[in-house]
Amino acid sequence: MTPYVLVVEDEDALATLLHYNLDKEGYRVSLASDGEEALMQVDEQMPDLIVLDWMLPKVSGIEVCRRLRNRAETRNIPIIMLTARGEESDRIRGLDTGADDYIVKPFSMTELTARIRAVLRRIRPGLADDRIRHGDIVIDRVAHRVKRAGKEIHLGPTEFRLLDYLMQHPGRVFSREQLLDAVWGSDVYVEARTVDVHIGRLRKALNQAVDDDPIRTVRSAGYSLDVEG
Ligand code: CA
Repeated sequence: MTPYVLVVEDEDALATLLHYNLDKEGYRVSLASDGEEALMQVDEQMPDLIVLDWMLPKVSGIEVCRRLRNRAETRNIPIIMLTARGEESDRIRGLDTGADDYIVKPFSMTELTARIRAVLRRIRPGLADDRIRHGDIVIDRVAHRVKRAGKEIHLGPTEFRLLDYLMQHPGRVFSREQLLDAVWGSDVYVEARTVDVHIGRLRKALNQAVDDDPIRTVRSAGYSLDVEG
């Protein structure tokens, strides 16, 4: 699944350059040009990582970072802060506020993409890898294959994306709306019960390999993936 990166940068030229390069690296990218817009975009769809400029109009980068860290739903979004050279004390404050890493302008795109990969790998193992494993389930993203306890499982494209997403956050409960946003995209109109249909198919396929249901239904809350071992 393509990691979704939100870039918050008010300098147009740099924002365009970041967009172009991250897109080329295979990320799905969205741009926000001030802090207020960044917070709104996060509410609409949770990014996998935020590249956040320090000096921003309306709400500063540091304030955006602080607000995101203060909310349970957004607390764990990885943030890489962009700072100008010479803001040494500010940089330290940046990390105090909860940024995961920072990078000093001017920087090379190679450096930034390396940092993004490193942060994603540290915070969300599985997101940046070709193959992820949880319990007895293994997904190969390149070959687009799934195995459970060594047995091949055939999934439709939507079930594949659902499983991939759930496997990135084992044990975490997602509402139908959150799954719709993450798997179908927030710009697509799909009824919430469509999620139930696809969860049902995924469950059936997984249980054919091993008769032990790994998907937990949490009444009125949603679904989570819990595999033993
Ligand atoms: Ca700026």
